Amino acid sequence: MANKNFKTIGLLGGMSAVATGEYYQRINQLVNQKMGGHHIAELIICSVNFALIETYIKESDWEGSAHYLAEKAQRLEAAGVSCVFLGTNTMHRVRETIKTHINVPFIDIFKTVARAIKQEGKSKVGILGTFPVMTDAFYVDAYRQEGIEIIAPNAEQKKEIDRIIFEELTHHQLHQESKAFYISTMHDLMRQGAEGIILGCTEIKMLVQSSDVPDIPLFDSLELHCALASAIAVGEIPPTVFD
Ligand code: GLU
Repeated sequence: MANKNFKTIGLLGGMSAVATGEYYQRINQLVNQKMGGHHIAELIICSVNFALIETYIKESDWEGSAHYLAEKAQRLEAAGVSCVFLGTNTMHRVRETIKTHINVPFIDIFKTVARAIKQEGKSKVGILGTFPVMTDAFYVDAYRQEGIEIIAPNAEQKKEIDRIIFEELTHHQLHQESKAFYISTMHDLMRQGAEGIILGCTEIKMLVQSSDVPDIPLFDSLELHCALASAIAVGEIPPTVFD
């Protein structure tokens, strides 16, 4: 029987394909936990070409990427989604352009993560992500606007963390040395006064999970985004949650 509270979730994916696979599995798993039986999410994915995204990032061509992604978001809207999720932290750099091209709510990953941090009574956290996410003022400011102070890794650590994302995680390669490097960077950030760590890249969860660092509160952007998607999908909270 159709559930009239169900909302169709729109996901702009492919950044990377590995991360989008995780989104698909996790949103469906969470909806199934809530609803039972064979319930899964009503979901429309528009998957983009990650090679283009990688080039846009490396060349800092934010304008080019904004128009590429805005057009894809419009396709999701035309297909009837109730809201749009963008399954990457890095490309939230162009969220304002995407938002001006659609009339349905856009579910911001920074607001999603910041909400969880504040719910835990914390306000100063470390971040792991791509080089731009750990470096550009845009991302620090996005969190500052939500009342969250960010501590980033040092220059050498940023380079290696970014290399691991693009050379390993986005190809679904999981190496013990890379995991150890991420964990030691997290401990460094905690020693500098972080109250927890944002997994600010939607592939990191595959490499490091809470069970690997039980003493560090983790705020996993993919997990928190999927939790919100599943709650919107079943009608627990409205797609206008951040409007
Ligand atoms: N999925 C990643 C993120 O959350 C990195 C890939 C990309 O640049 O889109 O930022």
